[in-house]
This record gives sequence, structure tokens and C-alpha cells, in this order.
Amino acid sequence: IEYDTADIVILTAIFAATVAYFTKGTLWGKPKDLFADLAHSNGAARAGKTRDFVKKMAESDRNAIFFYGSQTGTAEDYASRLAKEGHARFGLRTIVADIEDYDFENLDTFPEDHLAFFLLATYGEGEPTDNAVEFYEFLSGDEPQFSQGASVDEKPLQNLKYVTFGLGNNTYEHYNAMVRRIDGWLTKLGAQRYGTAGEGDDGAGTMEEDFLAWKEEMWQVVCKEMGLEEREAVYEPVFKITEDESLTPEAENVYLGEPNKNHLEGTSKGPYNSHNPYIAPISKSAELFSVKDRNCLHMEIDIAGSGLNYTTGDHIAIWPTNSGRETDRLLNVLGLLDKRHTVIHVNALDSTSKVPFPSPTTYDAVIRYHVEINGLVSRQFVASLAPFAPSDAAKAELQRLGGDKDAFSEEVSSRYLNIAQLLEKLAPGQTWTNIPFSLIVEGLNHIQPRYYSISSSSYVQKDKVAITAVVESIRLPGSKHVLKGVTTNYLLALKQKQHGDPNPDPHGLTYDITGPRNKYDGIHVPVHIRHSNFKLPSNPEKPIIMIGPGTGVAPFRAFVQERAAHAAKGEKVGKTFLFFGCRNSNEDYLYKDEWPEYSEKLGESFKLITAFSREGPKKVYVQHRLQEHAKEVDELLKAGAYIYVCGDAAHMARDVTATFGKIISESRGLTEAQGDEIVKRMRSSNQYQEDVW
Ligand code: FAD
Repeated sequence: IEYDTADIVILTAIFAATVAYFTKGTLWGKPKDLFADLAHSNGAARAGKTRDFVKKMAESDRNAIFFYGSQTGTAEDYASRLAKEGHARFGLRTIVADIEDYDFENLDTFPEDHLAFFLLATYGEGEPTDNAVEFYEFLSGDEPQFSQGASVDEKPLQNLKYVTFGLGNNTYEHYNAMVRRIDGWLTKLGAQRYGTAGEGDDGAGTMEEDFLAWKEEMWQVVCKEMGLEEREAVYEPVFKITEDESLTPEAENVYLGEPNKNHLEGTSKGPYNSHNPYIAPISKSAELFSVKDRNCLHMEIDIAGSGLNYTTGDHIAIWPTNSGRETDRLLNVLGLLDKRHTVIHVNALDSTSKVPFPSPTTYDAVIRYHVEINGLVSRQFVASLAPFAPSDAAKAELQRLGGDKDAFSEEVSSRYLNIAQLLEKLAPGQTWTNIPFSLIVEGLNHIQPRYYSISSSSYVQKDKVAITAVVESIRLPGSKHVLKGVTTNYLLALKQKQHGDPNPDPHGLTYDITGPRNKYDGIHVPVHIRHSNFKLPSNPEKPIIMIGPGTGVAPFRAFVQERAAHAAKGEKVGKTFLFFGCRNSNEDYLYKDEWPEYSEKLGESFKLITAFSREGPKKVYVQHRLQEHAKEVDELLKAGAYIYVCGDAAHMARDVTATFGKIISESRGLTEAQGDEIVKRMRSSNQYQEDVW
């Protein structure tokens, strides 16, 4: 293969990246910075609890531990489901463990007849989830230091028997990288895996079914290896729920949705992070679309004085509140509507379980603020509700749906039903009063903050974080049912309130906008910041090519804003190309009025290339425009341009990658495989960066 100058530049960069990788970034201190905001971790240490899981298992007489590395709650959910099943069906004595709560030096003292489960999600570009960073870094070294001092060659983990399942998304380059790497390292260290290293694929929409199929085979192997007998599973609650008549919701120690004690006591203080949100004022909100039935919000969130900070390209996490309509629906279907404000104590029945929210609290607060009541329903959870059905017919239906993956997909998942809507449909007019409230808390995910690519530049406005969020509202053809995204409709309601709009939501969602004890009054939203690797080159003279259709343009508004500010100061700015796409130049052309302003400041170095898919006779997307500009694009690449892609992971990002490969191969007379290879290397050297979801 002959390489030209640009390729040599790329190869040099790859060498640099390789050095960075093997020195774990110590030469220029990068990856660690990314996790700086995770200094809050070590939940167990904070609470003064042991970080020694071997000791904890011995003290609580457990023989199976279920570690989860989770970002959005699914891996956590799978860990607790497996643990429950392992206990109920096979008599394992189980414990569920947040992987960040423990140290792993003594993994080499793990008892031979015990079993460790690792449920590990892969995040972003093949990264560990926030809570699994320390575990990942510990094992990733050439010589992890175990307590008994054995070297890697001596196979220090020979006693360890483990099971593992990964949660990934095949539309990302590093599919299930986390589970693959951890599995590889554990095996290399002498550990023995039971069953296959399972992989679930969110990209294909088969995560739950992949998990269910994998676990059946896995249990067979575990039973055989550990000599376990299957027994009739009987539901045992994890939490004890006690109603307390002596307390009213107004009592000052009752949590009405406050995330922790400081928030309850009104003394909320930093550091603000994924365990402790900052209640931030929304200083500005605006509608970006000019059509009636679709919304896209521009919001500015004020973080001044909070101690939070961001740099251009970071993400902000928004902590949502469930809508009043869906909160009411679930309380009603469970027969709890009249008791919604009754104070309850939620305690773990077993010292090793963690209550996922603070208590005492109320049924209303749990449903409104803490559990994911709108999300995709799990088939296993549906099956587990059968014994508590209000009628034999409803029970039979639950058993049928729970046991038939195709029927479940057709009648539940693809119709976007949430749990309350499903229960309403299965037993019209009846309430499901037999379902233990503990089962609701165990079976539904803990509500998760949603991430948004920050659409402002920290160089221009360091205290005001902008987001660009399209409001999720999906109506299935031929159906009255509209799926309303949890967070984006909450944000829409906040915007409507800020503008004094009398019609906050056409579907009557109604939010408790002023928050627990009116603490969010005056338009506030709970947030924290997540730092990312998606960064402009530090030298503004470097050329960049950005591809961001739809809300994928969010970080690029920030990039262009930043470069325009440099240019306004008289600094030299390199070529700045932005490929943006949407349906129509009059409907959803985001920041249409702002681009000319930036263009004026940036002059010739800025070029905005648009693709309006529904304007011409043929659909035109950003990748088509990219191809049309092949010559210029390749010249920029030869000049060392950085590529940035943001937005839809499933289709757009892949097509764009393929287009770059094609452009490179065609322009340089290489084969397609060689073009793709160059793109691949640009990715590993961070010259090709993605922020996709
Ligand atoms: P949710 O309620 O979470 O619903 C989301 C989707 O889940 C639905 O569309 C549907 O497909 C599925 N779903 C939900 N309930 C059900 C059900 N009962 N049955 C079947 N399917 C269901 N978005 C932006 O608009 N702008 C950004 O800049 C942006 N940046 C992001 C950056 C990152 C790193 C990530 C990870 C995501 C980003 N997103 C962005 C997406 C954003 O985080 C949210 O996912 C999005 O706004 C939807 O959130 P929601 O709570 O409104 O919808």
C-alpha cells in the first residue's frame, strides 16, 4: 500500500494514540480527566460500608454476587432480576452489587464454590459505564495487583467462577466492548466462566430477548457445575413497605421526591453529580421548529455559582419527573389513588439490598420521581405479575404474554404500552390491588437522567448550558395511543410555563412542575454535567468537518459559536465545514437565523452545507451532500482535518462513515477496503469523533 502525506499524518496520530492507550494517558493526562467528575464514586465508602465484597459475602452468608456496570439502569435491572431468579429457582444465596461500591484486589480470594456475575453495559465508544470505570481500570493493567501477590502468569484468579452478560448496541463501532474485554481479561487471569459470555443488542431492539434466551442456557450450566436443583419459584419481596399513619406528607423528614437528605433539608450543596443533582434555573427557552405538531426546544440552563462547569462538547444530564397523567394511571390501576399521599417506610428485608430512593416517602413520590413508569415493559416482569392478577382471565393473559415472545412484541412492545396501560388493557375497569408494592419497586427501573449534547460553547457562555432537544411524541399509524417521551415532554411543559402558555400539553400530561415542596418553582430543572471526549482540536486553525443532521447539530452550534468568537477576536480560524440536514427549510431548520451571524464572523472559513430531505423530488441526506463535496472534503482531510459526527447512531452515523471511506478511496485511488481502513485508523487516533445516540 502506498500512503500519501495525509496518511502519514494519520499514522503518526495513531502512534500517538497507541502510546496514550498503553500509558493509559499518563503522558498527557487525558482519559482520567474524563472521569474527574466521578470522584463522587465509592458509594459504599461514603456510607462507611465495607468495600470488601468477599468479607461482605461471608458475613451475610451469600454464595453468589451480581455486579452491575450500568448507565441507564438496564444492567442494574438485569442483575437484580437474575439474583432474584437465582434465589427463587435455584436456592442461590444472592447479593446484588453496584460495581463501584467495591475494590477488586481480593478477587483472587473469591471462594471456589461461590459464583460472581458481571452484568456489564458498554457506553459510548466502547467505554465502561461511569460506575464501572474503576473496575475496568483495575483489570486493564498489564499486571493487576491482587491481594496475594500472584502474577498474571500464575493465573491468580483460578478459584473464580463467573458468569457474564454484556449490554451493547451493534450500531456502535465497539459493540459490547466492555463485556468482551472483561471476559478476556478474567479468562487470561485464570478464572472459569460458566455458560457463554452473553451479548444483548439494543441496536437491533432485541436486548430483552437476547437476555432471556441467554439466561436459560446459562442457568443449565450453572446448575450442572454447582450441583443445584431447580425448585418451585415463589415470590419473596425484597422490600418491606410499611404505611405510617403517624406521619403526614408535610412532616419535615418525609421525602416527597427530593433525591437526598441535603435536598430535603434545603441545604443542597455540591459537588453535583450523578448522585446529587443541581436544581438549576432555566434562564431561557424557545421553540425551534415552525410547525404545529412537532417541537424542538432550545433551553439555556444557568449553572452559575453551582460549582458545575463544562467544556464545549460535554453532555448535560436532565433528571425528569413523570407526568401527572401517567402517575395517576399507575396509582389508579394499583388501587393506590386514594392512598397516594400516605407516608410509607421502605426498608430492605435483607441487609445486602439497597432501597433505590430515600424514605420515608409517599406512594405518589415513588411513582412520580423514582421509577421509570413509562418505559418499555419487560416480558419477564409481566410474567412475574401473573399470581397477582385480579381475575383468572387476566392471569391467563399475563402467562400467555409472558411466555410468548412474538405475541409480547406484537401486542405490547411495538404498541408502546407502558406497564399501567397494559394492566388497564388486560383487566378493564379492575384494579390490581394484590400486586405487592415491593414488586413494583423491584420490577421497574429506577428513573434515569437523560443526556443532551450541550449546544453552547463554554468559551462564549461558561455559566449557561444550552440544549437542543426534540420532543418525543410518537403516534402509531391507525392508533390513538401516543408515546410521549418522559423528559422532553417535561421540558416542553417547563417551557410552556415560562412563556405563560395556557396549553402546556395537547395530550393532557400535566406535570408537577414546581417539584417537591415547590423547590423547583420559578422554572428549575435538576441537572448534572457529564464530561465527554468529543472535543474541538485545541488549535482553532485546524480544519474541521462536522456532520450533524437534526438535533445532531447541537454540539456543532457550540463548535461554530466557539470558532466565531475566536474569529471575532481576530484569531485565525481554520476551515469549518458543517453538513446539516432536516426535512424542510421552513419547518425544522435548526438555528436558521443564527448561522448567518456566525458566517459573518468566520468569513470564508465557514461553510454550511444543507440537505433538506423533503424538498426535492428525491430524498437528500447529509451523506449525499458529503459525497457531492468529495474533492473539497478529501483536500481538508489531507490538510489534517478533524471529522465530527453527531446524531442518529442507527443509520446516519454508519452511512457517513461509509461515505468517508468511499471518498478517501475514490479520491486517492485506493480500494474501498483501504479507504475504510484509513477511516478506522482516524477513529482510533481521535481524528474521527462521534457523539451518537
Ligand atoms: P423516553 O421516555 O426516554 O423515550 C425514548 C424512546 O424509548 C422512545 O422514543 C421509544 O422509542 C422508547 N420507548 C419509551 N417508552 C416505550 C414503551 N413504553 N414501549 C416501547 N418503547 C418505548 N436528544 C436530543 O434531542 N438532543 C440532544 O442533543 C441529545 N443528545 C444526546 C446525547 C447523548 C450522549 C445521549 C445518550 C442521548 C442524547 N439525546 C439527545 C437523546 C436523549 O437523551 C433522550 O433519549 C431523548 O430526548 C428522549 O428522552 P425522553 O425521556 O423524552 O424519551
